[in-house]
Amino acid sequence: MNAQQIIDIENKHTSGVYAKQTLTIVRGQGASLFDADGVEYLDCSSGHGVANLGHAHPKVAEALYKQANTLVTLFETFPNDQRAALMEKITALVPGLDRVFFCNSGTEAVEASFKFARISTGRKNFIAANRAFHGRTFGSLSATFNKKYREGFEPLLPGVSHVSYNNVEALDKAVNEETAAVILEAVQGEGGVHPASAEYMQAARRICDERGALLIVDEIQTGFGRTGRMFAVQHFDVTPDLLTCAKSLAGGVPMGAALIGANVKNLTPGVHGSTFGGNPLSCAAANAALDAMMEEDLSAQAAAKGAYLMEKLKKIQSPNIREVRGLGLMVGIEMKQKAAGYLKALQEKKIIALNAGMTVIRLLPPLVITYEQIDHLTGALSEVLTNEMQNDE
Ligand SMILES: *Cc1c(COP(=O)(O)O)cnc(C)c1O
Repeated sequence: MNAQQIIDIENKHTSGVYAKQTLTIVRGQGASLFDADGVEYLDCSSGHGVANLGHAHPKVAEALYKQANTLVTLFETFPNDQRAALMEKITALVPGLDRVFFCNSGTEAVEASFKFARISTGRKNFIAANRAFHGRTFGSLSATFNKKYREGFEPLLPGVSHVSYNNVEALDKAVNEETAAVILEAVQGEGGVHPASAEYMQAARRICDERGALLIVDEIQTGFGRTGRMFAVQHFDVTPDLLTCAKSLAGGVPMGAALIGANVKNLTPGVHGSTFGGNPLSCAAANAALDAMMEEDLSAQAAAKGAYLMEKLKKIQSPNIREVRGLGLMVGIEMKQKAAGYLKALQEKKIIALNAGMTVIRLLPPLVITYEQIDHLTGALSEVLTNEMQNDE
């Protein structure tokens, strides 16, 4: 199939819920993606933060091949070697979170956490933050803030309210004896790349403890080295009661998980479940991915490369830039004009980046991006960002 055939077929049969690019991608390697004509692109999106280990990682590929020839599917009622190994590995990452529920995506990890919070506390209400993104199924969508995602789908889950992010006073006022849980991102991703302050995260922990509410930290985008630590909460010395992760967990293979602390109670057989959750194939991929992350010290790579990238970005002199911010290799460049024009200009230079809201360019490269590739990226950005974009869409 050539590029045009691929595009035509997808346009004919798509559900319609995605804004389709006119660029086909058929192969990946490290931080590079290749289109149907073999043209190379620098990936600064990682599939929204999935490919932290880079594309086509040989260890993950090998584990998938082996496990596909061994056992693909098994309901979690039957113990399995790959799942047991992963349970040990993933619960060792955050002291205090000793149990885990496996699922298949980010939104499912959030849904599980909400159910666990209700069954655990006997309370109904949830507090989330303005600008938050937690997913698009009804429960997680109720905690997602942006009207763009919510409109047309009401009524959503009752009892979910939103407060200003990084505002201790607002959170203090909102949490009470009816709050089952507070849910926060450690760095808001879709909402514009806004890192939490340590003070805020620590206050959230204290407020939840005082009022008997659970603290859920959504690390679906920030997890697995992205911010320079295995999980971003480790920057803040905070242990949540529930930590949701997905995206990069299994090296690109679909998998989600909720890590569970001691305050979470009443998780008895039948309370929750998932057909594909904890299947040996995904577990094998996650075991290989976590091993590779440790061996390659991916968190340290993200910290060092993030600092290098940030320093170079801050040197770009342009009246169009409002602010550069981020943590590790999760970087936002807030522009005075819409991000879309800049993203298009970058794509013409064979660089794939993301937006976060209307005016923020979001960079989420694979953590294995090379320094040469970062230099190439910042070189392109310094050309593109100094141009004023005509909003001709
Ligand atoms: C991507 C994301 C989700 C949703 O994950 P899906 O796998 O798309 O359901 C939830 N929360 C955050 C912070 C995310 O970045």
